Amino acid sequence: MDPAELKAIVRTIPDFPKPGILFRDITTLIAHGRGFAATIDRLVDRAQMADASAVAGIEARGFIFGAAVAARLGIGFVPLRKPGKLPLDTIGIDYQLEYGDARLELDPNAIDTGEKVLLMDDLLATGGTACAAVDLLREAGAHVHHALFVIDLHELGGGEKLRAAGVTSQAIMQFG
Ligand code: IMP
Repeated sequence: MDPAELKAIVRTIPDFPKPGILFRDITTLIAHGRGFAATIDRLVDRAQMADASAVAGIEARGFIFGAAVAARLGIGFVPLRKPGKLPLDTIGIDYQLEYGDARLELDPNAIDTGEKVLLMDDLLATGGTACAAVDLLREAGAHVHHALFVIDLHELGGGEKLRAAGVTSQAIMQFG
């Protein structure tokens, strides 16, 4: 399936989670067997170029795609979690979202110092979440130079924000 066919499977929901927001929903994409498989194939092709030894995925939808890609590449998966979920050592970062405040947490023992980590999430919007994730991974000792998404809402400028932080980003599909 080509990117235009995959894009057609993504559901668009107006006024969620707030009036005026067009929410791009990957639920329909992962429910579509061939569409999900083709999405993972395309992500794996791009992820190979990052030459990373681990994939870090952002909770929750970043786990779906990131874990599948890590398993296909035979490398580890590092979960970047919502607050209060990790049982042992934790480092965290607070950041602002379009719709309020948020926090990500990480077990620093999941990363080796100097390890090359590929960041993944379902969707890049303003880039606030991804940049916070990059900062947190770097605090744990990771080298982060590449980020991979299923969807880029390119008009919101997340790609530029990541580039300013020294990270190149790619996505399977773009929405305006
Ligand atoms: P950002 O921090 O503004 O780049 O927003 C990206 C984060 O918010 C990601 O973790 C996404 O999962 C989530 N997000 C923002 N907008 C949407 C959307 O339209 N659909 C699905 N997730 C979204």
